[in-house]
Amino acid sequence: MIRVRFAPSPTGYLHVGGARTALFNYLFAKHNDGKFILRIEDTDLERSTAESEQSLLNTMEWLGFKWDEGPGVGGEYGPYRQSERMDIYKKMAHQLVEQDKAYEAYVYPEELEKIREELLAQKKSPHYNEEMLSQFDTPERREEYKAKGIEPVIYFKMPYKDYTINDLIKGEVTFKKGTVGDFVILRSTGLPTYNFAVVVDDALMKISHVIRGDDHLSNTLRQLAVFEGMEYPLPEFAHVSMILGPDGARLSKRHGATSVEKYQEMGYLPQSIMNYLALLSWSHPDEKEIMSMEEMVKEFTIERVNSSAAIYDEQKLRWMNGVYIRELDDDELTRYAKKYIIASGLMDETHFKSNYKWIREAVGSLKKKIHQFDEIPEKLEVFFKEPIFKKEWAQQIKDDDTDPAFIELYHQVKSADSWNIPDIYQLFKEVAKRVKVNSKKFYHMLRVVLTGEEDGPELVNVIHLIGRNQMLKRLERVVDMI
Ligand code: GLU
Repeated sequence: MIRVRFAPSPTGYLHVGGARTALFNYLFAKHNDGKFILRIEDTDLERSTAESEQSLLNTMEWLGFKWDEGPGVGGEYGPYRQSERMDIYKKMAHQLVEQDKAYEAYVYPEELEKIREELLAQKKSPHYNEEMLSQFDTPERREEYKAKGIEPVIYFKMPYKDYTINDLIKGEVTFKKGTVGDFVILRSTGLPTYNFAVVVDDALMKISHVIRGDDHLSNTLRQLAVFEGMEYPLPEFAHVSMILGPDGARLSKRHGATSVEKYQEMGYLPQSIMNYLALLSWSHPDEKEIMSMEEMVKEFTIERVNSSAAIYDEQKLRWMNGVYIRELDDDELTRYAKKYIIASGLMDETHFKSNYKWIREAVGSLKKKIHQFDEIPEKLEVFFKEPIFKKEWAQQIKDDDTDPAFIELYHQVKSADSWNIPDIYQLFKEVAKRVKVNSKKFYHMLRVVLTGEEDGPELVNVIHLIGRNQMLKRLERVVDMI
């Protein structure tokens, strides 16, 4: 059974890199009829907060992740929050002590530092061992501290040997002996260290594949030793390359938004984010770019995950969001737009409700023009504000020789007795029949006269939505001058 996990630490927002790791795990699990497990790594008690965890879970849900086991859904191998598994780590650490694969000691950080400095002075690698610690960890100290109820620190005895894995993305990776020395697995507070807790959990949760960012590759060495020490079978490892900014540096705030929440706020759709993230180091066998979740699940294999770093291209994500926005029907689009419109003050809730059809058409007319929902209010302004008339417009119309069309349009509008979209089309047909002008120039200046802008919503919607009276009023100003 394929079992994978996404193991975030709830210390802030969900980074796009984290979301990509979660997605690769998810696609791999679903492609193989396996299980996707969500584990909260909250042993850093100072930095992990309940709010961050809640916001993380909300964002994961919003993106469309459904975890088979984890917070909120439970499962056979829980609890799924590390802070609720403290007894397990303690028991496991003590078991290693009993088997002489780990040892307890009372040593202060300054003392450890002193040992390291001495080793370095002797040109040796700065790795301490049980014997070196015993100069400080004397029987007297032990007795005294034990009597006071102070818990010792538990250190893992790092075997002096090479470790090799066959990483599913990186290929064969060998960690040379002596790279790391003994290390802490359980602090005196009873808190496990990351490398220990991860192994205990991956083992007990029967994780078959560890798919994570390659910033964890260096941790893998200690983890391999702990797996071996605990006599647990090793999972497969797949270390995904980091995401870089366009300048080749690791993706950071400098490159723009890096949290999924920020994109949600700006008006990105979860399907665009997931689709875009899937393409960071992975590609569809036919190089297809726009893919549904089902398609991604169907095609995802680790073999197609590239070992080189992916470059984050926010413009491409933006483009993709535009593609997905165009797939929405007008009601859906209006539902998404509502919050932005109301927040901008263009309309209030009641106004929005009572003018729903009007606003739906207005929002719908922007569909091809927007890439994120937060652009909607500004683009809607043309429907709410009369443009300030400029004399040059009349001059331009004369230079274009489109003035007869403006005059004819004005008369047609004046005598029009109904105002729906088919009638508006009909009216334009009439104008075209009577006067032959360069229609491109005509429509361009008509838009300018009606909206004050060179670009914007579909013209027929502008005309329909501003209404006959406004149309006449705006045309009049120019007709008077030509
Ligand atoms: N909790 C770790 C992190 O947020 C992930 C651990 C892992 O995937 O092994 O980076």
